[in-house]
Amino acid sequence: MPGSIRGEVGDLFATAVRRKKSTLLNCPSCGSLQVAQVLGDNGGISYVCTTCGHSWS
Ligand SMILES: [Zn+2]
Repeated sequence: MPGSIRGEVGDLFATAVRRKKSTLLNCPSCGSLQVAQVLGDNGGISYVCTTCGHSWS
C-alpha cells in the first residue's frame, strides 16, 4: 500500500534528522561527545572538545 510505504519513509527521515542533530556536537578530531559551546571573539559560537582540546566553529 502506498500509504504505509510513505509512513515508513517519514519515520526514516525523522531518524536521519535526529542523527544529524546529535552528530553536530561530535568532535571532528576525536569524535568525542564531550563538547562545550563557547562564544567567540566576534560574538559567534565556537565549539571546544573537552576531551582533546580541539576547537572549531
Ligand atoms: Zn576531541
